[in-house]
Amino acid sequence: MTETTKYSGSCHCQKVRFETRLSLAKVIECNCSICSRVGALRAFTPASDFKLLDGQDALTDYQFGKQHLHHRFCKLCGVHSFATGTGPDGVEMYAVNARCLDGVDPAALEVSRYDGKKL
Ligand SMILES: [Zn+2]
Repeated sequence: MTETTKYSGSCHCQKVRFETRLSLAKVIECNCSICSRVGALRAFTPASDFKLLDGQDALTDYQFGKQHLHHRFCKLCGVHSFATGTGPDGVEMYAVNARCLDGVDPAALEVSRYDGKKL
């Protein structure tokens, strides 16, 4: 089991706020069409370890391609703080943008590249 830590996070305007437990040992930078534009650093956690505190009404749900993922972003400030989708094992997962976590220095993270472009 990877050790997880509790983090709080938000979009830029603070309308969308959340709490989550996850590990930053495995952070992914994906080169797919949306991730490369958004610049998100993604850390994954099951839905049971993610709690939206505020901002449900501010979140827009963007889907494209095979529509496996729901890219959620704040319609006020435009920040993509997380995406949701179902993993291969049927568990609902959250792909949290590590750049939106409080007190986390993105430059200090060990980032793995993920070739999402070819999917
Ligand atoms: Zn916002």
